[in-house]
Amino acid sequence: MRTNMTSTRMAVSLLWLLCGAGCGVMAQSPATISTPETTVRLENTAEGPRLGELKTQDGTVWKNRQAETLPTSVEIDGKAVPVKWEWNRGASRADGKEVSYVYDSASPKLRLTWEWEARAEHGPVEHQIRVENLGKAEVWLPFVDSVRVEMDCDASGTLEQLSVDKGAGTPSPVGTHLVDVKDGFQWEGTSTTYSHFEWNGVREIIPFFLVEKKDREKSGWYIGIEFSGRTRLTLERAGGTLRAAAGLNPNPGPFKTRVRAEEGFETPTVFMGGTTGGIDAAGNVLRKWERAALTKAANWESPEYPMLVNNSWGSGLAIDETLAMRMLKDSAELKFEMFHIDAGWFHGVGDWYPDPKKFPHGLAPIADEAHRLGLKFGLWTDWTQAALDTEHGALNLRDPVVNNWVVADTPADWKPEPFKGQTIDIGVPAARDWTEKEVDRIVTDYHLDMLEHDGYVVAQGCDRSNHPHAAPDPAQTTITNAASSYFVDGPNSTDVSYHAVRAYYSVYSELRKKHPGLLLEICNDGGRMVDFGSAAHGSYFSITDTYDPLSNRRAFYDTSHVLPAAMLETYVEKWPVPKIENFRYMLRSGMMGWLTVMLDTTVWSEEQHRAAAAEFELYKTKLRPFIRDADLYHISARPDGIHWDGMEYFDAPRHAGVVYAFRGTIENQASETFVLKGLEPEKEYALHFQDQSAPDRKATGNELLTKGLTVSLTGPNTSEIVFLNEVTR
Ligand SMILES: [Zn+2]
Repeated sequence: MRTNMTSTRMAVSLLWLLCGAGCGVMAQSPATISTPETTVRLENTAEGPRLGELKTQDGTVWKNRQAETLPTSVEIDGKAVPVKWEWNRGASRADGKEVSYVYDSASPKLRLTWEWEARAEHGPVEHQIRVENLGKAEVWLPFVDSVRVEMDCDASGTLEQLSVDKGAGTPSPVGTHLVDVKDGFQWEGTSTTYSHFEWNGVREIIPFFLVEKKDREKSGWYIGIEFSGRTRLTLERAGGTLRAAAGLNPNPGPFKTRVRAEEGFETPTVFMGGTTGGIDAAGNVLRKWERAALTKAANWESPEYPMLVNNSWGSGLAIDETLAMRMLKDSAELKFEMFHIDAGWFHGVGDWYPDPKKFPHGLAPIADEAHRLGLKFGLWTDWTQAALDTEHGALNLRDPVVNNWVVADTPADWKPEPFKGQTIDIGVPAARDWTEKEVDRIVTDYHLDMLEHDGYVVAQGCDRSNHPHAAPDPAQTTITNAASSYFVDGPNSTDVSYHAVRAYYSVYSELRKKHPGLLLEICNDGGRMVDFGSAAHGSYFSITDTYDPLSNRRAFYDTSHVLPAAMLETYVEKWPVPKIENFRYMLRSGMMGWLTVMLDTTVWSEEQHRAAAAEFELYKTKLRPFIRDADLYHISARPDGIHWDGMEYFDAPRHAGVVYAFRGTIENQASETFVLKGLEPEKEYALHFQDQSAPDRKATGNELLTKGLTVSLTGPNTSEIVFLNEVTR
């Protein structure tokens, strides 16, 4: 071992001696990095670094005129100080997969690194700008976008844009937006961890958009932001010019952020990819890239991912030891894979210890019983909420230290809600340290396999002047009181979220180091934190907070355009099911991604028990491999609950796939034909109708790709699952 270490070190030293810091990657301008789908040309120009062009797989070149806008001044001791950036060629690097151009400012002493990287074999490339303060004085940086482009486009050509709403709270009426990008088009999409559309009417997007030519080839490109804080994307068209920007949200400005001596600022990483062949083609590349490069490899290690979960919220806050033990027994009988206790188990908000009246023996025995029955054990928390409990070292906001962590003062008569209190700003290092210890304690003490966070882990805004973020501007700060929670909004909100999100990621990175197999569910009031930053740090998302079959299918339809299906959790809740086929329809509406059942299964009839057991077996053995690995095709319009809708998985390496067909309430349409995708026209496929709504038969790929697959169902709110297997001759 020692010998190996020494020889490795010697080899490294030798390389260093031979070619110095930039060995083998002498900076060039222009430089190119590429994947099969995306080639970007990067160059240093007199105006600064520039993405010169993005080339898609079909050879279409999107030329960009806009150099990156680097900060021209910073603030030191309250005064604006101009900054002049010089390209440092010697410190810059470029190879086929990674490019970093370094720019130095002599006074104030700053270094800016402009980075691009292709992290996986396929898919998009990533980009980030870092500014390091190499001087002795604290510096305030102005707003820096992650990326800005001004692309040439054919002035007479038609373009279209895809953007996707979060399923926050409840899926929006449209959800998946595919709109023409005409001359004069102006669009802005925003994302936070809150999505308060109920207050402000603003529907948040999953921070991403795609723009493509509206022709047969559909050449285009997309941008997404790997950050959960306040971000925004813009797209504008003026004749033959297409302008776009992505990064932190500069509004409501003016934005500024503190960079202490020997510290740095990083723009949220963005990814940019080229695409041809339309939205599902883009999604199939993107989802594979996310699995390979963005999400945690540990998530995918178990073949039981996505998982079949029984969640206690079907009984709401009534959960206690007796009910938990009864649910565990039934979970084992129904062969669930995880038992998940939702809100209602704890002593108090901010006091994350079991309520002794409900759980006199604590939670560990429940976890141990789950493990004995072969189930994993998961638990709901909201670990950034402070309230009034004083026991166990709870987060008590009457403690002056904790009160300085919460985002705003509370009146003397303030009281928490049953499971919400007042949010602390984990951008404060001491607050982050407390949460880091607390989540580790919760996972360790309660023997958890999964930790769910709900509520507001990232502060929306903050009214404190002594936190690392910029101080609030009292004249422009609003504080909204919604039930127990105070929400702050003002010019410093983006900076507050910048610090808090980085702390959130750091807490979860530390937690994963200590508990490598731990699963992390991301749930901010149901589907409000669905973004590529949390995808990189968690294991799966709650994608909406409305759990009827239609809402579940709508949220899945939208979100699955841009995120791996395995990560997309829908909760199945109690819904009227007069017939057993309606019961199956209800379950299957949640069976296209991660399946969490939120029903009291102990009240199911014997027939329902049998049907559920069969559906769960189908999910685990037949459907899950497709959900994990297969390409996904949106083969109908977005579900409306009235008409039919369908979704197809097809796994080319396995020569097999599955079609989910759902019939809405429509009366006079007993059958629907779905034109399939991804098959080989010359091959023959065996079709198996799971519920035997039609006899099994064979069909050619050509027939299924042109005429389509017809499914017939007799009643409203019913479903069928059709398996496709290539016939080998
Ligand atoms: Zn703060």
